Amino acid sequence: MRTFAFYFLFIFLIFYITMTGNITFTMIKPDAVKNGHIGAILKMITDAGFRIVAMKFTRMSVAKASKFYEIHKEQPFYDKLIEFMTSGPIVAAVLEKENAVEDFRKLVGTTNPDNAEEGTIRKLYATSTRENAVHGSDSDENALHEGSFHFATSEWFDKDGNCMG
Ligand code: ATP
Ligand code: MG
Repeated sequence: MRTFAFYFLFIFLIFYITMTGNITFTMIKPDAVKNGHIGAILKMITDAGFRIVAMKFTRMSVAKASKFYEIHKEQPFYDKLIEFMTSGPIVAAVLEKENAVEDFRKLVGTTNPDNAEEGTIRKLYATSTRENAVHGSDSDENALHEGSFHFATSEWFDKDGNCMG
């Protein structure tokens, strides 16, 4: 039992040290999926130099979305956010690039698309502050947490195509 715990911790540490700073987690939200923007958004992401580490097309349950957005539980927009994020399928993905979190948030633009810079994903494809086309992690720690929340390590692939789990 003890050996297993050490082995698990060792693998986790290697994984954490290797990935920290280089990965982010994203979702193409239900509005952008419904409006037919999956292809265009993925092209912007890969053209900007992000490598896809893990990816799936899925629909979040209310329980899963509530847990994912737990940090916003006290916010007035929380209930509507859960309703929106569970209203249809999303594309969830783990992305890799140097300085991934910051660079991805630059590519995404501000939460309210009216304030987003020209050429950002939200400027091009978001329709409102709530229905803002994409999610991007806000810290390295949250990127790992969110990526692991949506994907088993067996669903992560390195640049040579080898499973990381
Ligand atoms: P995300 O976490 O999706 O990348 P963000 O970091 O720009 O977006 P957060 O403050 O983390 O913004 O809010 C999470 C999500 O909650 C937003 O992307 C948006 O969908 C929704 N949201 C945030 N603020 C509001 C608001 N004032 N009114 C309606 N919805 C909001
Ligand atoms: Mg956020």
